[in-house]
Amino acid sequence: LKGPFLKASEIIKNIEANGHQAYFVGGCVRDLLLGHPIGDVDITTSAPPTVVQKIFDDVIPVGIEHGTVIVRHENESYEITTFRVEGQYSDHRHPDSVEFIDQIDKDLERRDFTINALAMDLNGQIMDLFAGKADLQAKVIRTVGDGDTRFVEDPLRIIRALRFSSQLGFSIEEETLKAIDRVKPKIQTIAIERITTEFNKLVQGNYVNNGIHYLKRMRIDHYLPVFSDNKGLIEKLPNNLKPLESIAELFALLHYVDPSIDVHTWFKAWKCSNRVRKEANDLSNAIFNFSRNGINLWLVYQLPVEYHARFIRLVSILLPNKFISMDQMEAYTHRLPIRSKRELEINGNDLIALHPTLPKGPWIQKLLNQIEYLVVMGKLENNRTKLKEWIKWNPPEIN
Ligand code: ATP
Ligand code: MG
Repeated sequence: LKGPFLKASEIIKNIEANGHQAYFVGGCVRDLLLGHPIGDVDITTSAPPTVVQKIFDDVIPVGIEHGTVIVRHENESYEITTFRVEGQYSDHRHPDSVEFIDQIDKDLERRDFTINALAMDLNGQIMDLFAGKADLQAKVIRTVGDGDTRFVEDPLRIIRALRFSSQLGFSIEEETLKAIDRVKPKIQTIAIERITTEFNKLVQGNYVNNGIHYLKRMRIDHYLPVFSDNKGLIEKLPNNLKPLESIAELFALLHYVDPSIDVHTWFKAWKCSNRVRKEANDLSNAIFNFSRNGINLWLVYQLPVEYHARFIRLVSILLPNKFISMDQMEAYTHRLPIRSKRELEINGNDLIALHPTLPKGPWIQKLLNQIEYLVVMGKLENNRTKLKEWIKWNPPEIN
């Protein structure tokens, strides 16, 4: 054992010393066998959550009723889940009931796909009850057990199948695909937040076009918010996607290919954070500005620096023959006369003082915005005297 497994093995040893079984499980074992970088190391154990709480000093009881706690160990977090079997998912969010058990077999059986149902002990011995290793080798995503049953139990697994196809570049096995086709209307019953979480991972996948291919081919979009009211929209999405940074980029792309659906509609229906809304808005404004005017100072001024790489990626996807580089973005950034409105050498109070006869009103903000634009674009110098002069000769329109 090495890397992240070495550190995590201390946790397993500790649980074993207390008379319980514990294994590495799920994504970390899958990624180890694939030779991919390891994300989170998850652990599954026969110890009930209350026992795990007693064994370790630093425990966060995130989902104790479902058997999950987080153990903090040497600045890392480990999700430790007690072996369990699940009841129905009638709220389509959590199983109604879980039963803790002391055999790992049944715990692996409740997991979604064979490649995710692998466990590994301290000696590196792999437990593979559903031929997950063979499926890793064959690069296929296949449900553990009967597809229809498993997808009806939790239809989110359909979205997860697409997500893994996007992350791993795997195909979805034929019987699993047929089950997806039969059960897909039930996607509409799942809480949108769960779908959004999986979609965020889907758009980040190294094989994102593979995931989108299945989305289109299986017509999963018909059961997703906004897409379901705009059948055919998905076909407008370019086929040359690149791994995106977040779902906000996808919304910006979608707004560009169908401007009749605004960013707000996407962000609301998919219950995203305000951060996502701002990012999607900034990116789509930039891409529209760019498509009309090419690169310009106003575009660079309005786009936060941390979005530059995302913007370039969107250009390369949507406008592939209008190449733009990070160096160009940087050069424009250096040329900016100001970085924000605060750096203007005049402010609202100056405008009021220069037009003492005008009643206060929206003209102040409007005029300030106009001056900001002209300064950024280099049409007006950011010099207090010169700005005042300009203001004198350009009285605001009041109506
Ligand atoms: P990642 O590397 O993205 O975290 P992961 O495989 O660890 O991938 P998670 O969503 O973190 O995926 O889930 C951890 C494990 O829990 C999965 O590998 C799978 O065994 C199981 N699992 C998660 N969600 C479900 C679900 N909806 N139905 C059945 N099993 C699930
Ligand atoms: Mg995980």
